[in-house]
Amino acid sequence: MRIGHGYDVHRLVPGRPLVLCGVEIPYDKGLEGHSDADAATHALMDALLGAAALGDIGKLFPDTDERTLGIGSLKLLDEVVARVRGKGYALGNADITVVAQAPKLSKYTEAMRRTLAAHLFADVGRVNVKATTEEGLGQVSTQGIAAHAVVLLEETHPRVRAL
Ligand code: MG
Repeated sequence: MRIGHGYDVHRLVPGRPLVLCGVEIPYDKGLEGHSDADAATHALMDALLGAAALGDIGKLFPDTDERTLGIGSLKLLDEVVARVRGKGYALGNADITVVAQAPKLSKYTEAMRRTLAAHLFADVGRVNVKATTEEGLGQVSTQGIAAHAVVLLEETHPRVRAL
């Protein structure tokens, strides 16, 4: 088994759609970034890459690449999942925490789980998404949205290790 951790932050700005875990959330602001700026999917991708020792999304998808300008992060997730599966790993489980002062996200977390699970080739029972505020005390969570992710990967064909 392999464990990975990911963290990401994007700034909330007017005039952008708000997308988290691939789910569009009605709000008067959205996250600023090169892609759709889905901070939760970005944290998840970094956790997957971390667990598989495949680097990070900044290296894989540099924000200087015109081809990924405005791209939906689920497309980037598909590429990450293909690389992780290609290395012989399947998802054990993923746990994502979205940190936002606003908007309220609890009614969207089930849709987020289902969306991510489908892209991870995993049963929805292996994916958890939760949301928290920072009680107004966080500079990041009042000006943007942050996300943490931890992932456990399992080898699909464990090698017999030499002693
Ligand atoms: Mg990001």
